[in-house]
Amino acid sequence: MNGTENAPIVVAGAGIAGISAAEAARARSPGTPVVLLSGEPDLPYYRLRLLELLDGAADPASLRIHPHEWYARQGIDLRLSSPVASVDPEAHRVVLATGESLPYSALVLASGSLGIVPPVEGAALPGVIPLWTLADARALRAAVPSARRAVVAGGGLLGLEGAYRLSLLGLEVTIVEMLPRLLPNQLDADGSRVFEAKVRSLGIGVRTGAPIARLDGTGRVRSATLRSGEVLDAGLVLVATGVRPNLGLLDGSGIPVGRRIAVDASMRTGATDVFAAGDAAEVDGRWDGLWTAAKAQGRVAGMNAAGGSERVAPTVDPYFLSTMDTRVVSIGALDGEGPLGSAIRRDDANHVYRKLAFRGGRLAGAVLVGDADGMARVVAAVKAAVTREEALSSGLLG
Ligand SMILES: Cc1cc2nc3c(=O)[nH]c(=O)nc-3n(C[C@H](O)[C@H](O)[C@H](O)COP(=O)(O)OP(=O)(O)OC[C@H]3O[C@@H](n4cnc5c(N)ncnc54)[C@H](O)[C@@H]3O)c2cc1C
Repeated sequence: MNGTENAPIVVAGAGIAGISAAEAARARSPGTPVVLLSGEPDLPYYRLRLLELLDGAADPASLRIHPHEWYARQGIDLRLSSPVASVDPEAHRVVLATGESLPYSALVLASGSLGIVPPVEGAALPGVIPLWTLADARALRAAVPSARRAVVAGGGLLGLEGAYRLSLLGLEVTIVEMLPRLLPNQLDADGSRVFEAKVRSLGIGVRTGAPIARLDGTGRVRSATLRSGEVLDAGLVLVATGVRPNLGLLDGSGIPVGRRIAVDASMRTGATDVFAAGDAAEVDGRWDGLWTAAKAQGRVAGMNAAGGSERVAPTVDPYFLSTMDTRVVSIGALDGEGPLGSAIRRDDANHVYRKLAFRGGRLAGAVLVGDADGMARVVAAVKAAVTREEALSSGLLG
């Protein structure tokens, strides 16, 4: 007993994982105070919609997950600009950056991710902008009017959507990807080639296998030099080269951390009464980096922090991408096994590619580019691991 049994349930981080945890803890244990600590000054928002701010299609208020009053109505004590600086699991206390020390009966760590800026020369120049927070999105929006050309570093989900939105605003855009293909985590090599052709058809430049060596400019960024020696003019550089977990708050806490905070399916960390969820956590060694996963994990962490005994169900979550005037769906394995490991329909003229990947005679994954018809059926069939015969006879290739 450490005298904190009646202390609040504290949630560190007010992204989707943290909000879901606070909401679930409140529902499960209405009598226990819940404190939700946010590292940001803005009310919690739909991070995945941040790029809607670029062209003014949305304003920051329209991205809010809940209005201000909602938190008080729910009995959730939301504290903005209150990052946790350190955690003492023995004493069941967190210390805020302000110096305030808070006891907890249970703690949920939901500190999420941060955009990585590669450590190249010139990375600190104004106009070099990562994209993870509302503050980043505001900086990006402010940089657009004075830029005619943009380089987007990173050809993953975020980089592609950013590049597309910037091109719609009239900027001349080049995507620079270090790996040999676009969407390297979501598309197989052929699917990526079909997709890249679609991107180029929109007038967007693509360089793959092309790490950035250096950024240059006086006062603000003016160009990006690739390792090949090519120099690309750039009035702004959007950095979308990946994320790393926010783990600084755990320094010295003794809470086990691998690449992220290690939890089991009940979202428990190695410390008593401490849970973790979302982008900051890896569940039995696995990390998805998806909104839906963070939400589901947050709910389970909140329930269990309030005395529940729930577990997250292992799922194969799909990636849906609607950008570049086309659609991409990717779920499960990108490549099959053996001579009957894949079935493909490809129509290069129309930038269409559909692939089913089979392992052990069962549907283990699918990639759809340009034609996402019947995607719900395809996703369901992968989740159900239907047989090869069933997949092919039910028209999943379209
Ligand atoms: C532009 C964009 C588009 C995206 N599109 C998609 C998509 O289409 N589909 C999809 O599935 N995912 C998408 N994602 C990813 C998705 O947003 C993340 O997987 C999700 O936000 C993770 O939620 P989280 O709550 O774990 O972490 P985060 O959203 O990173 O939130 C963590 C919060 O914790 C705060 N924090 C950090 N440290 C501390 C501390 N010490 N104390 C207190 N608070 C702290 C942070 O400031 C932050 O507010 C996108 C992301 C971006 C940026």
